[in-house]
Amino acid sequence: MANILLVEDEEGLVMTLQDRLADEGYKVEIASDGQLGLEKAASGSFDVIILDLMLPKKGGLDVCRDLRQAGVETPIIMLTAKGQVIDKVLGLKLGANDYMQKPFEMMELLARIEVQLRKKTQPKSLLGNSALEIGELTIDFNNIEVKKGGEVISLSSKEFQLLRFMVENEGMILSRDQLLNEVWGYDALPSTRTVDVHIAWLRQKLEKDSRYPKHILTVHGFGYKFVK
Ligand code: CA
Repeated sequence: MANILLVEDEEGLVMTLQDRLADEGYKVEIASDGQLGLEKAASGSFDVIILDLMLPKKGGLDVCRDLRQAGVETPIIMLTAKGQVIDKVLGLKLGANDYMQKPFEMMELLARIEVQLRKKTQPKSLLGNSALEIGELTIDFNNIEVKKGGEVISLSSKEFQLLRFMVENEGMILSRDQLLNEVWGYDALPSTRTVDVHIAWLRQKLEKDSRYPKHILTVHGFGYKFVK
């Protein structure tokens, strides 16, 4: 059972999230202001921290920065109001792992929590040791090399990072925003269209027939998913 710290001051949202997360089998602790959130996060052993940006006493960005400076590496998913793009950039720079804009779909938050939990539990060596064989594809994460039917396929670094993140989270629905956060991060602020374009390139290079992809699937209304 994973422990989640929810740092949020909106009572309605706290209640909704608390109920839903508990239903999913998570143990949830609440902090209703930034100061309390920082204290709990620094002392407790949480698996994921959901951190609102606008908080009484201490803002989410400060909490995030202080935690990282103190060496606390618990994954942080930040919540913020629509349109606070600058906060997204800052948040990721200050060490947040992911970012969600309010209002969000509960399913998407749950999916993102799962991604953070999997990253934590999945030893990096799992994918690092040997090349992964998927149908006629061979993906070698160590040597950053992808082969299709024995032929080396040339991928750009973003294409490879995107493929890697998708393979690491095989079978999970990944939203465009999430892929953008993970692969492009705060280096640039491309639109989610960038993700679609890179997905199309990957399909062209890796799929047998890019019009009927077998591995890089579209999940309508949500995003993409990688399957073996
Ligand atoms: Ca708030």
